[in-house]
Amino acid sequence: MKNLHNALLLKQLQQLKELGYRYTDTKPFSYEEQNSLELPNELDELKKQAQNCHLCSLSKSRNKIVFGEGNKNADIMFVGGFPIEMEDDTGKIFLGRGGEMLTAMIEKVLGLQRKDVYISNLLKCHPLNTQELHETPFHTCKAYLFKEIELVKPKIIITLGKEAFHYLTNETSELKDIRGEMTTHKNFRLMPTYHPNFLLKNPSLKKEVFIDLQRVKALL
Ligand code: SF4
Repeated sequence: MKNLHNALLLKQLQQLKELGYRYTDTKPFSYEEQNSLELPNELDELKKQAQNCHLCSLSKSRNKIVFGEGNKNADIMFVGGFPIEMEDDTGKIFLGRGGEMLTAMIEKVLGLQRKDVYISNLLKCHPLNTQELHETPFHTCKAYLFKEIELVKPKIIITLGKEAFHYLTNETSELKDIRGEMTTHKNFRLMPTYHPNFLLKNPSLKKEVFIDLQRVKALL
C-alpha cells in the first residue's frame, strides 16, 4: 500500500507543479484525502478504480485494463505477470495459446473449471515493451493484487513465472530453484511454478508443472 500512497503523492505533486506551484506543504494530502486512498472492499469497485488508474506510465499506452477474473471465493488463485496485446484489446485475462494452456492445466490436472478459480496478474495494463519494463509499475500496481488477495482469500496462490513470485514475496531466488516448493507467505500458501507462455517455448518442462499442480490438488 505504501507504494500506492507514494505514487498518488507523486501524482499530486506533479499536478501542482503543472499548475505553477514551486513550493507546497510537506504533507499535501489532508486527513480526508488520506482516508480516500483506501482501496475499495469489493472486487467490482476495485476494478472500476483500476479502470481509472493513471498511477504509472503504462496507463498512457493501454487500451483496456485487464483485471482479475473468476470465482470471487476461490480456493485457488493464479497470479501471472502482465497482460499481452490480445488481452489489452479485449480486457479479458489469459487469452491466446498461453490462456488455453492455463485452462488445460486447471481442467486436466486440478479437475476444476476455469470459472472455479480466480486468475489475476501483477500488472493490470499491457506493457508495450517488456524488455524495458522496470520495477516501478510492478511495485505500484501490486497494491491492487494484494487487495484482490485480501478479498478473495484463496487457500493457495499459484504464481506463474518469475515476476509473480518475485513481486509477491520480495524473494529473488531463481524460479528453477524454488519451483514446486510450497511456502507460506503472509497468511496464504504459495506454489511457484512456470508461466504457460514459458511452457509454450519449453514444452519439456510441462511435466514439472504437472507435478506442482498435483501437489496443490493433494492439499485441497
Ligand atoms: S499498471 Fe496498474 S498502477 Fe499502472 S496505470 Fe495500470 S492499473 Fe495503474
